[in-house]
Amino acid sequence: MPEAVPAGTGLVDASLAARDRGLLWHPYAPLDGPAPYAVTGAEGVRLQLESAAGERFEAVDAMSSWWAAIHGYRHPVLDAAVRDQTGKFSHVMFGGLTHEPAVRLAEQLVELAPAPLRHVFLADSGSVSVEVALKLAIQYQAAAGRRGRHRFLALRGGYHGDTFGAMSVCDPVDGMHSAFPSLPAQHFLPKPPAARWSAGQTSGGELRADPAAVAAWTAGLESAVEQHGRELAGIIVEPVLQGAGGMHVYAPECLQALRRTADEHGLLLIFDEIATGFGRTGRFFGSEWAGVVPDVMCVGKALTGGYLTLAAVLCSADAGAVITASASAAGRALLHGPTFMANPLACAVASASLDVLAGAGWQQQVRRIEAGLRESLAPAAGLASVRDVRVLGAVGVVELAGPVDVQAVTRAALEHGVWVRPFRNLVYTMPPYICSGADVAAVGAGITAAVRQVHG
Ligand SMILES: *Cc1c(COP(=O)(O)O)cnc(C)c1O
Repeated sequence: MPEAVPAGTGLVDASLAARDRGLLWHPYAPLDGPAPYAVTGAEGVRLQLESAAGERFEAVDAMSSWWAAIHGYRHPVLDAAVRDQTGKFSHVMFGGLTHEPAVRLAEQLVELAPAPLRHVFLADSGSVSVEVALKLAIQYQAAAGRRGRHRFLALRGGYHGDTFGAMSVCDPVDGMHSAFPSLPAQHFLPKPPAARWSAGQTSGGELRADPAAVAAWTAGLESAVEQHGRELAGIIVEPVLQGAGGMHVYAPECLQALRRTADEHGLLLIFDEIATGFGRTGRFFGSEWAGVVPDVMCVGKALTGGYLTLAAVLCSADAGAVITASASAAGRALLHGPTFMANPLACAVASASLDVLAGAGWQQQVRRIEAGLRESLAPAAGLASVRDVRVLGAVGVVELAGPVDVQAVTRAALEHGVWVRPFRNLVYTMPPYICSGADVAAVGAGITAAVRQVHG
């Protein structure tokens, strides 16, 4: 047996990128894709990166590690939460057992969620939570004696994850449906009409859309449900902001129409708040822009402050009661139970993250980022290559007229001290909530400069 090589001795001299190449798959990337940057450290809002050629960069993480690291890296409270729990036990099965971190986290989530949401299922990732939410809706309909209701109504432009059920409710064109012919067939509504933020009477402003477009969209919703209602178990949408499907901000009135229609036809309304939850859009949950409460809600991403993979499905007391009253003994349980369900380390750090969020005054943090992004991204709107610039809460989007040269824009932004990961025609940012005003200004300026340099 070779002796273990202590970390940091430099005995392995091939670059990480070279060792990674052909060995590891990366998200949506071929084995022989562009070399990734190696992370050599992370602290606060900054990543230390090294290119395959050995150049070093320090950059503000404008992506919060895909919406997750809202409190930045190596947060002392979150570090301590993991350390403390490791000193007790790191994992135990959840079948027949329970523990303080899971119970405490569930209590916190129920406290934070709108009143009717009372029950919590802890899942390993956002995609798995979507699977559980879909199963829950199908089981609910069966328990309510409405057989044959197993399909879902979803939105074009939506994104709900990468597992099979979740993929089936993603946008049917962009959502990789053609690569997987065995996906369950679902029904889709057009993308809801765009909304623009405007400073309103209420603090935090409001989202305004063209009323005629909203009326037309609502008529389409009603006719789709008239036609397919008897085979539908539920409706699943990302409230107000469609994330990975295109960073589309839409009319809150559409959520109100979905709530009415779901009630009229006995459908469960599922809100996927995995990206929008925990203050990112300027409200604690995206649904608050519409004043609409769903029957089922998925949260994930920022739940653990980006430390560990964890998601949760919350459901209403009514949905829980209907399932519990199922005539079939098996149908009384929610039919899911992953090995690492309610992982204590993940639950402990999630609890700590929610405490930090409350204590840090997330409203002011998000408001400061929103104002900073509006100001620093404004010059991008004047670039020839740019079609639209939009900001909602701590999310900023620069939409180009054509596809982004991802490698070149990533590199140019890095040279300006900003880490971004564009996709399709979008360069976007959702920075950590702890960003200072100067960090946010650097993010906006870096993105604008990178787009100008590469696309003009
Ligand atoms: C990221 C995301 C998911 C999937 O979560 P994973 O943890 O990546 O499985 C689902 N829905 C939305 C809205 C997301 O943004």
